[in-house]
Amino acid sequence: MSFISSAVAELLFRDRCAGCGASRVALCPGCRERLAGEPFRCPPRPPPPGMPPVWAVARYGGAVRAIVLAYKERGRHALAPPLAWALARAITPQLPTPPRVPPGGRGSMEGGAMVLVSVPSRPWVGMRRGHDAVGRLGREAARILTASGHAAEHRRLLGYSRFVADQAGLGAAGRAANLSGALRVRTGRSPPRDRPVLLVDDVVTTGATLAEAARALRAQGLRVHGSAVVAATPRIAV
Ligand SMILES: [Zn+2]
Repeated sequence: MSFISSAVAELLFRDRCAGCGASRVALCPGCRERLAGEPFRCPPRPPPPGMPPVWAVARYGGAVRAIVLAYKERGRHALAPPLAWALARAITPQLPTPPRVPPGGRGSMEGGAMVLVSVPSRPWVGMRRGHDAVGRLGREAARILTASGHAAEHRRLLGYSRFVADQAGLGAAGRAANLSGALRVRTGRSPPRDRPVLLVDDVVTTGATLAEAARALRAQGLRVHGSAVVAATPRIAV
């Protein structure tokens, strides 16, 4: 979908719940609740080599899938805050507890502040969508966590070094082969080697993308602490 047609779709659908179609609301209370589950670990089965621990707050399917796709593919920007809030909740179990500073204060960046690194869209996909969907969720999740006293910062460190095909329709082995060696730390970015890194994405399926992202960061000497997504595919969720 082009940027223009996604803008038209936004106009057509913005008065309906992205999850269930209820009228006059961007996200109804019931669908909002679907993003508010307790964080759970959701390792892919089998995990690809180098797969970091991964947490989610929802199963990917039904209304949750509709919400994620409406945000990413139809430019429903009003869904960014609830999705970022869900992502922040999937991150929280992987942060030091208790929070370093009182809620509402500024999170300290000293001594192990978590760096959130968002998984990038393939370049042409990002251009088609007209926005960096996961990057925005990472940025807003860092802001939410900082406001609640955690020390977190978002960085766009990763980019693609070569062409990769659409992952849809590929199995676990095909996805891993498609992505092998495809990500790199972007030129000119100074990797924060003194701080733990946590990868963030919208959905985990086979784990191939998160494993490749972790490999690219570790190749630059970064310490990958874990990863977090909004939703996990049911066949791998535990
Ligand atoms: Zn709804």
